[in-house]
Formats: sequence, C-alpha cells, structure tokens
Amino acid sequence: MAGASLQQKEWVDDFLFVGNQLALDFLNTKPILEGEARELLPSAAALEQWLIASGIVTSQKDRALVRAWRDSRQGEAFVKKLIAFRERLRGAILRLEGGLLPEDAFLAEVNVLLKEYPRRASVHQQGSKVVLDVFFEPRKPEDVWAPIVAATAELLSEVEPSRIRKCESESCIVHFYDTSKKGSRRWCSMNICGNKLKVAGYQRRRRLA
Ligand SMILES: [Zn+2]
Repeated sequence: MAGASLQQKEWVDDFLFVGNQLALDFLNTKPILEGEARELLPSAAALEQWLIASGIVTSQKDRALVRAWRDSRQGEAFVKKLIAFRERLRGAILRLEGGLLPEDAFLAEVNVLLKEYPRRASVHQQGSKVVLDVFFEPRKPEDVWAPIVAATAELLSEVEPSRIRKCESESCIVHFYDTSKKGSRRWCSMNICGNKLKVAGYQRRRRLA
C-alpha cells in the first residue's frame, strides 16, 4: 500500500521526511510542532542522527566517523554554521515560493561551498550497465556541506519553483516538493496538518450552513 509506506516514512527517528527532496528535508529540521518552533538539530549528536535517518550516512565505518564528532568543539561549531545556513536557505525558498529568484549573496555562498566541498562519485558496472554512485566521505564535520549544498543546488536549478510549496496550514512552516501527478498537494502531511484542516473546514462549513 503506497499510503501506508508514505506514512511510515514521514518520521524517521523523530525527524520529518515529507519534503521529497533532501534540501527541503534539511530545511524542515526546524518545524513548528504543537505551536512551538522545535530545533531538531541542536547538537552534533542530533546531526549524526539526522545524517543516518536521511540515508546520507549508511556504512558502519561512516557511522563511526560521524559519531566521533559528538561533543567535539569542531562538531558543535559546525552545527551552528549549518543551521545558520538553513535559515538563509529558508529565505531563498520563501523567495522562490513568492516568484522571486534567490538573492545573489545566497547563490554566491552556495557556489563557494560547492567548490570547496564537491560531491564525490564513482561509476561501476552493475549487470549489463554502468551506474553512478554518489557517496559521502565524512572525514570532518565540514564534509557534511557536500550533500547539503549539492541538494540545495539541485533544488534551486532543477525543481520547478511552482512545485515547491509551504504547507497550507498557517501555523506550519514545513516546505515540500510536490511530486504528485496533479500538483495539488496542500499539506506537509495528512497526519500532521491535513486532517486538522479538513476537520476545521468541515466545522466552518457546518457553522455556515
Ligand atoms: Zn503542515
């Protein structure tokens, strides 16, 4: 059942994955839940969890490397930089949703990071074809820039801006890439906001009737 699997994937280890795109899932690491802004990346340990939940870090070797950043000064300093970038990304996404291009300064920042932290890839044979493997080498916290800025660049350049939207619930700040056939997705998730709004709409219609 497609519905059931989508539901299961919405939350992974207390992180929200409804963006349909990595940069948006990253942006959604500070949602408003039950009326309060919740920072889901307050520390290097939380970042470690998110990297695993998002599928960026998979192997045992990489998990061990990332675990070493916990409680390290370098790890904590990096998380601060990363969440500051996330808020600038939010500004860029809000502009896109408003029909504007991101500011030049933001694109310049992305370009510096793309150059300094390129995404690593290799090709190998699989059966009768050659496949591309993108991988992440977490030797130091700053290496996390590679998947984040690659996803940001992809979001800005390859995704149709009208398909990037904020959840229609006023009290919700979750953004998503609408990959539905009709392009009619309205909510971050049926479970989080959809049902609530449907019930509110129903009650309003009943009051008016
Ligand atoms: Zn929502």
